[in-house]
Amino acid sequence: MNVTLTINGKEVVAPEGSTILEAAGLADIKIPTLCHHPDLTNVGACRMCVVSVEKARTVQTACTTPVAEGMVVNTESEAARETRKFVLEMLLTDHPNECMTCEVNGECQLQDLAYDYGVTWPEHSGVLHAYDIDPDPNPFVFIDRNKCIVCGRCVRACGEIQNRDVWTFAQRGFKTRLVAGADQFMLDANCESCGQCVAYCPVGALFDKMSLGLGRPNQVTKVRTTCSYCGVGCTFDLNVRDGKIVRVSSAEDSAVNGLSLCVKGRYGYDYVHHPDRLTRPLVRAKWLANVESKVETGQWRAYDPDRPISDSESLVETDWDTALDVVASKFTEVKETYGNDAFAVLASAKCTNEENYLFNKFTRQVLGTNTIDHCARL
Ligand code: SF4
Ligand code: SF4
Ligand code: SF4
Repeated sequence: MNVTLTINGKEVVAPEGSTILEAAGLADIKIPTLCHHPDLTNVGACRMCVVSVEKARTVQTACTTPVAEGMVVNTESEAARETRKFVLEMLLTDHPNECMTCEVNGECQLQDLAYDYGVTWPEHSGVLHAYDIDPDPNPFVFIDRNKCIVCGRCVRACGEIQNRDVWTFAQRGFKTRLVAGADQFMLDANCESCGQCVAYCPVGALFDKMSLGLGRPNQVTKVRTTCSYCGVGCTFDLNVRDGKIVRVSSAEDSAVNGLSLCVKGRYGYDYVHHPDRLTRPLVRAKWLANVESKVETGQWRAYDPDRPISDSESLVETDWDTALDVVASKFTEVKETYGNDAFAVLASAKCTNEENYLFNKFTRQVLGTNTIDHCARL
């Protein structure tokens, strides 16, 4: 069933049970938020989304107040705007003035809202938190509790999406502090280093440790790609600076996974630029013709400079045509000697559907065997 209400003078029809925030979204009316995220439960903790509702004594949190028939809402009333401004002022009284060097400068919701509401940095005459920076040995998640605005998005992301329940808040009031488990290190508190908490943090309190100092949002180019680790097909953005991947960031508009990624997808990208990575095919010297002269003229290269090329087992970096010719001749040899069913093929979930389709065709039509399986079937 639907209800009809008025938001900023506009008639809006929304499903019964939806919140004012959701109803406003249906009418393209933007209400600022900090602790809210559409993937997570609403808690109304930050008070940024307050709006005026006719006949209500005080402003109401739009993310937790359900719509009602005939409700009249003003999202831009003086009371709502003043309350938001006050909330921002309060947050900044205990927040380091570090936008100049902060990793998320330009991609920080607190910074954007302070700008939108004209809130400047206050003179700090009171007590400021001075937590140790990055006190946790987790290899992937960087923590700066001084920037934490206690919104609880990381707590909910870890609990509701990842089902790990690592984060919680200890103490109360000004002393409220984000802790892992019973104030333990993250890995001792059930953390699997997926980085979901980082992805949902609206400020720079949690960040990707591997990416510190390597490039801020306006210094990188984001390249959307599909993860190559498994067949789920998560997509994410490679953050590239000067031709190098400096970070992986998940994206809300990824159809398969949204902001979620596993530890491999989010943090397992350093192999791309690893110096040990094989970039050319390696073939045993014994299977190559004129190997010594081609190495001498620089056409091919000995893989291990300490192993003489005259050693027939040594590996040689060749070109692809040569390597594929060797593979084809070896397949033919096996086929002629032992028959088609000497082959068994195992396809991989790391390949795309199209690659696996071709693999299937190649196995049945070229190798001539039906002995093919796929790791994801088991
Ligand atoms: S978290 Fe945001 S507001 Fe805080 S220092 Fe970083 S950019 Fe500035
Ligand atoms: S990295 Fe993943 S498992 Fe660990 S605390 Fe963050 S969300 Fe939870
Ligand atoms: S670490 Fe980030 S997401 Fe977690 S409570 Fe603090 S500001 Fe919110």
